[in-house]
Amino acid sequence: MSGDGLTIALAKGRILDETLPLLARAGIEPIDDLSTSRKLVFETNQAHINLVLIRSSDVPTYVQYGAADLGIAGKDVLLEHGGDGLYERVDLKIAGCKLMTAGFADKALPKGRLKVATKYPAITRKYFVDQGRQVEVIKLYGSMELAPVVGLTDLIVDLVDTGNTLKANGLVPLDHIMDISSRLIVNRASLKMKNQAIKELVASIEQAVE
Ligand code: AMP
Repeated sequence: MSGDGLTIALAKGRILDETLPLLARAGIEPIDDLSTSRKLVFETNQAHINLVLIRSSDVPTYVQYGAADLGIAGKDVLLEHGGDGLYERVDLKIAGCKLMTAGFADKALPKGRLKVATKYPAITRKYFVDQGRQVEVIKLYGSMELAPVVGLTDLIVDLVDTGNTLKANGLVPLDHIMDISSRLIVNRASLKMKNQAIKELVASIEQAVE
């Protein structure tokens, strides 16, 4: 965003329900109802702050290229993106879950190359390479749990919260890869050009986290 205004990119879906109360505690409230409006850009009670509502995996890209000055995205999405052009500033301690491997409880895995379905090919490849396992990663965009059920892969790598989605599909969580929470990220150039406004915003969000 040009001038001294700030644009914050927010992810649609599960994270949003926890993001809005956090922003409200930091004194930022959208004028329209984000859950019912079909708009993508929202003004807030603070004249210099706008929100844009996008797919979670697009949040780091908007912030990297400066289309948004700040963003809120899961650590999973940030690791997969790689972090070019942005700083991770605050662990917001919301939308907590675990990134895990999952599969059938009672099925032995093949000795050789494992097939793994995931939305996170970069994280998944690194995890198995670090374990010394050969892996063929198959990128899917949703409904990961189906892949082992129909024999597409041996395992999946996905976010697990309650575990209900795995259970409903006859799968169990296996190895814990990492804990995940949402983070506040900042465009590197914006941090220099709009330092004061961003410093104030980051401080009020930090206070809202505590
Ligand atoms: P659950 O059944 O509660 O274990 O939730 C698992 C489903 O929700 C999977 O499809 C996950 O990809 C998704 N999920 C769980 N936690 C999160 C999160 N914090 N952010 C985004 N998606 C999530």
